[in-house]
Formats: sequence, structure tokens, C-alpha cells
Amino acid sequence: MSLTFLAVHAHPDDEASSTGGVFRLLANQGVRTVLVTCTNGEYGDAPGGVKPDSPDHGPDEVAALREVELARAVAVLGIDRLVRLGYRDSGMMGWPQNDDPRSFWSTCVDQAADRLAAVLAEERPQVIVTYNEIGFYGHPDHIQAHRITLAAMARLDYEPTLYYNAIPNSVMTQYRARWAEEERRRRDDALARGETPDVPEDPDGDELDLGTPDDEIAAVIDVASVVDAKFDALGAHESQLADSFWMTMGRDQFREAMRAEWFVRATNPTGQSDVVTDLFAGYR
Ligand SMILES: [Zn+2]
Repeated sequence: MSLTFLAVHAHPDDEASSTGGVFRLLANQGVRTVLVTCTNGEYGDAPGGVKPDSPDHGPDEVAALREVELARAVAVLGIDRLVRLGYRDSGMMGWPQNDDPRSFWSTCVDQAADRLAAVLAEERPQVIVTYNEIGFYGHPDHIQAHRITLAAMARLDYEPTLYYNAIPNSVMTQYRARWAEEERRRRDDALARGETPDVPEDPDGDELDLGTPDDEIAAVIDVASVVDAKFDALGAHESQLADSFWMTMGRDQFREAMRAEWFVRATNPTGQSDVVTDLFAGYR
């Protein structure tokens, strides 16, 4: 049986951060890989870390740059087909960009799902990955990616295995410790330069729990053999991620820290009962 994997992501760079390892690993195994990126990422940072609410931020220029960066990441990950749905980035929840009629968030789910369903019908992937109903961290475009994926799957004449990306609570605890350490380092560096350190925003928020209970994780994929490609794919998204904790930890620490990707199972047509180490368990 020829195997096809398809991931539905919200923005350029999400393919690398949550599925960079599995994309490269599956490509190395000869599985056909397809990436659907829903938005152009207009409201990411502009070069130099210029934020979307700055008058110096040009959304269309940011999107053009991110298209180039995405193409680079796609090449690094060996992705066979990239489909860009081309919706406008909706910004974070509550931003005025949410209401732009061109935004992904303002797009009718059925309409976007029709377009995704056409891709699914062509590719007939056995395994699909997207985000859970809160879009992993509450971003409107991630929530919308979840909604259109479910709606598109409902139009198929077969049931694929659907996974949502996840981070186990035990791993999230390690990340939080790393973030806190990084924050301390930045603050100490600023003080050493005689500057007043920025008051850090809480990046993960107290009200939003990003972790998943460890016993709900259904797939643990060892991506150690392709971790360099994941690092390079993240690095391709330089305009967004140059200052991210992944890049600042450097390649050596990244190799140690980012050896796995985790998923919860949303549909299970092959009847897997154990934690799998292969997203295609039951298909090979
Ligand atoms: Zn995103």
C-alpha cells in the first residue's frame, strides 16, 4: 500500500515546530508527505522583530518573506507537496484582524473545508495531523485549522487516522524550567549592560494549560535521527524564530532536548490500543 501523510497547519513555521521531525522521518521512510498551510502569516513579526501593531509592520511584505521561508523549510523536510490555502492571518484572539473578512477566522468553515476536502480526496492520506479544538494554544487560526479538518474529513468516503499534536505535562515542566532559565539569563544580561530589563510577558499564560496528561498521549515518535533537519527547518523561518528558545538553545542542546514529538489520537480506524511509536501503525 502506498502511504500518504498530510498535516494541516495554520501558519508558515507551524509545520516545523510541531511536526518537523515526523515530516522528515516519514519522507526518509518513503511515505508521501503533504503539507496544507492555511494562512500566509501576515501578522507574524516583520524583520528586526517589528510587531504587527507597529506602523513599520507591513503585513503583505511579511507574508511574502514567510512564503520564501516556508519553501525553504519544505525543502529541508522533504515535503512532497505544499498546498497554501492563502487565507489572511487572523492575528491573536481579540485582535481587530480577527474581523477582516479575508481572515481565516472570518472564513466560513464549510467553504474552507470544501477546499481542504478536495486535497484530501486527491491525496487520500491514511494519517492526518492537526491541532485539538483549542488549537493547541488558543490562536484563532489554529482553532480554525482544527474545524476545517474535521469538516473536510466528514466529506470523505473513508476514515483516516487523525492525530493532534501535544506536549506531555512531564515534558512541559522541563520546557518551563528552560524558559524560566532563559528569562533569568536575558534579565541578567540586560542588567549587566546597565539596561532596565523588560518585564517578561508570561508566554504560556496561567489560564491556558498547554500540556497534555502523559497518559493521554497515544503516539510518541522518536525523531532523534532527524533532529538536525528539524532544527534547520525551524531556522529557515528566520523572521519569526531567530530569537525563539529553539534557536537560542543552539544545535547541540536542541539535539538533546527535542528528541521526540507527541500526539493524541482523535480517530482510530485501525483499532490501535497501545501507545504507538509510528504514526502509520496498523497501515504497514
Ligand atoms: Zn501558528
